[in-house]
Amino acid sequence: MLVKNIKGTADRTCNCGTWLAHWERFAGVRAMYCGVLSCLSEAEVGAHVVKEGGTDKAQYIVPMCKKHNAESNKSIVLSSHIVMIPANISVTCGMTDSNSPSKTNLTNKAN
Ligand SMILES: [Zn+2]
Ligand SMILES: [Zn+2]
Repeated sequence: MLVKNIKGTADRTCNCGTWLAHWERFAGVRAMYCGVLSCLSEAEVGAHVVKEGGTDKAQYIVPMCKKHNAESNKSIVLSSHIVMIPANISVTCGMTDSNSPSKTNLTNKAN
């Protein structure tokens, strides 16, 4: 997956505290290593990226080392197994309970 690191995102925050915590919460695993292909450094931050060469302009969070996170506006190849979590908090941690898809459809099947 080819992505580009987005500049000027350091002051953004979400309910999770850090973007690395945000990634871990929605990926459901602990961030171990930098998501950049063949980088063996530890994951230190959650980096904001966009996919390159597609129609998907959404921003995503991936774990990265600080060195790679500092390389903004540069094309980066991610390791193929890395999970990309949406940076848009309205579809992740900013979601209210009423928008939760899990509760509704279970009770209407009585007849
Ligand atoms: Zn969050
Ligand atoms: Zn790295």
